Formats: sequence, C-alpha cells, structure tokens
Amino acid sequence: MTTAYALINGSMIQGSQDQQVKPNTTILINEQGRIEQVGRSDELEVPAHYQIIDLANRYVMPGLINAHVHLFSDGKPFSVSASESTLKFAYKHILDTPFGKSLLKKRMKRNALNALHAGVTTMRSVGEFFYTDVALRNEIQAKQFVGPNLLVSGFFLSVTGGHGAPFLALEGDSPWEARKNVRLNVRHGVDLIKICVTGGVTDAKRVGEAGQLQMTVEEVTAICEEAHKIGLRVAAHVESSEGVRVALKGGVDTIEHGAEMDDEIISLYKNNPRALKGYTALIPTLQAAYPSIVLDPIISKVSPMVRENSRLVYDSMLKSVHQAVENGITMGVGTDAAMPLVTHYDLWRELEHYMKKAGLSASRVIDMVTTTNAKILGVDQVTGTLEVGKNADLIVLTQNPLEQISALSNVSLVMVNGHLIPQPSVKRVAEVDRILDSLPE
Ligand SMILES: [Zn+2]
Repeated sequence: MTTAYALINGSMIQGSQDQQVKPNTTILINEQGRIEQVGRSDELEVPAHYQIIDLANRYVMPGLINAHVHLFSDGKPFSVSASESTLKFAYKHILDTPFGKSLLKKRMKRNALNALHAGVTTMRSVGEFFYTDVALRNEIQAKQFVGPNLLVSGFFLSVTGGHGAPFLALEGDSPWEARKNVRLNVRHGVDLIKICVTGGVTDAKRVGEAGQLQMTVEEVTAICEEAHKIGLRVAAHVESSEGVRVALKGGVDTIEHGAEMDDEIISLYKNNPRALKGYTALIPTLQAAYPSIVLDPIISKVSPMVRENSRLVYDSMLKSVHQAVENGITMGVGTDAAMPLVTHYDLWRELEHYMKKAGLSASRVIDMVTTTNAKILGVDQVTGTLEVGKNADLIVLTQNPLEQISALSNVSLVMVNGHLIPQPSVKRVAEVDRILDSLPE
C-alpha cells in the first residue's frame, strides 16, 4: 500500500504518436499505486484523503522504458585489453566469490536506482552474471526497496566461444543444448531469453568479426520454440545482415542493435510467424557505438580495431533505422547502458540521436521510449501510458520535452508503481558527461 495522490494542474504528454500537451490535467492515484482517474483539473474532484501535488507549469508523462541495459557496469570507459588467462583468473578468484557477488549486486542496485532517479521506471536487462539480476528483481517485487520495474534475462545463450562466452554466457552447440540452456535460465526465474546470434564489438579480435555469424537457424528456432511455449520473449544480439536473417527466420521477438536490411529481412520483421506476436521489433543502440567512432582514441581509449568494428556496426545499424522508419517496422529504444560512455541516466541522448541522424520527431521518440517499448516488451497492460488501471509509472519535468528533448535530463519528480520519489538525485559521471557534451554533430 502506498499513499493516494492527486497530481493536479499538470500539462500531460501521452505516449501516442500525435502528441499534444493536455493542460490542467489531474491524475488520481490510488493506494494500490494504480492510476484511478485522469481528467481536467476543473472537472475532477479530489477525494479528501488524497495527498495533493500541484504540477502547475510542469509537464507529466509516462516513465521512460529502457529496453536494452546491463546493470553490471555504469558507463565509465573501460578497455578489455587483459589476456584471456588474466580475465579467467579475475573471474574465478574475484567475481565468482561470495565477496565478488555481493559487490556486483550492490553495484547493479546502484545503477538501477540511478536510472530510476533519472526517470527510467522500467528497465530490460539483457545479459548479467550469476542471475544477480533475478535476485534484484525479486527484492524489488518483494518491496524490500523501491526500484524500477525490472525484466531480466540472466546469462546470454551463445555457442561455444561465442559472444560473451564463457563468463557472461551459457554455451550450447545444438538445438537440444540450446533448449537445455533456455530451461536452465527459466529454472532460475528469468523474464526473457537473450541470445547472441553473431559476435560483438566488445570481444571481436579482428575487423569484421563483430558481425560474424555464430548461431544456426536450427539453434535459434529451438530456443524460440522453447521460450515461446511458456510465453517468454527472445531478444537477439545481432550485428550483421546475415545474422539478422538467421535470427528472424528462427523467430526472435527483438533484434538488438541490428543491421542493414534487404527485402526478405524487411518482410520477416513485419510478418514473422515464428515470433511470439507474429512480428519482430528492432531495438537499435546507436549511442553505444557512435562516440568511439567520432572521438579521439586518446579520449575514447579504444583500439583502432574496436574503432573500425564500431564504425562498421554503427553505419549498418543507422541504415536499418532509416529502413525501419521507411517500411513501418516496429522500433523501440535501448541504450546498451554499461558499455563505455553509455550511462544509465542519459536515455535522452539516444532519443536526440534518432532526431538528429534519422530525422524523427520529438513526439515519435517519446512514443518509442514509452508506449511502443511497453508493447515490444509485453508490459503494455501495466505501464507505458497514463491511463486508468495502469501502474502509476510517471515523471514530471519543468520543461516541455516536445520542444527540447534534453528536458528529459532534468526530472523533477518520479513515481514508480505509485511510490513517490519527490526529489530525484542522479549521480552523474562528470567525466563521461563532459566527453558526450563535446561530441561533434
Ligand atoms: Zn548489450
């Protein structure tokens, strides 16, 4: 049970594509943390015991949803230059110990709370160590602390030696091994399955390897069948066109990152009989690749090889964004927070990137990061819009984000499931902010 609130006199922005500001709006929120009524302030009567919060001259909109994060890191630059034996040693003797795991969980909790204070009321975490994400989600659901709504995947599923393996992935090399790994993750309580169909920039060892195909259609199909039969979605890390084709044919529900499309790929996105809902959505992560391409390597700390792989992946990903827009393919928003220079608190930078590089309007990107993301993740029954019956997941802003998208960087109030955070405080990483503020257009 929470307090019942009446948010009065706010200018409401809804997550539907032709967004208009509705002035003088009152939102009533009941003790169960659900939206009870939405209407004009001069027409809605506020019940006596409701705590009134006056939002005059402020904007209220649905809480933000980040569809692609990792909680284990915070976006400070890191370079994975250590040898495999050093990494193995560190994993075994530091991370995979009770002490290491407790540090990891504290860090993940800190990142989740930082995101929440920045207005992210729902996060989909797509790849973590030891099911610590499951434990964190359970603590939030058991109301041990007020946190964001978490959807968690546990370990990646990869092929032997594939992306994220061996530390961040369960490895499997046939449809049946892949099915077993789905069942293992399900046994540990995950909300979705994350698979790696191709290599990735973080562990590629030469130029072009990031998008190299790793899984077969048979493996992807088996994973999707296994997940879909109990209603779980499958998110696929993919960084090349051939990878996208294999993932779509196998029936994944979201393509993470993405790559240039051809006609077959476009039609599979829009009509994918093996996907849970009959279509597949695209979750690009532009801001995760962009800085390392345009920054001086002395600042970004990336090697020439990583820089070139990032450029290849980014160019192809941006093409796919244009193609998704042109062809009416469902597209959501994720940031890959945890990657170098991608924080958990600056979701607006990804939105601004869509506006600058793909010509999308502010109302379109706001819709993507709220309503559309909720649909893609399968949580649109409970969040993503400010409608009667949904959970009170919302943010309040002092400036209009439809006029200036960076207004989202200054959230003056957050509510998640009806729990009020009256004075959100975001712990910013000054070094990262400075670098990102200085990026060329
Ligand atoms: Zn990722």
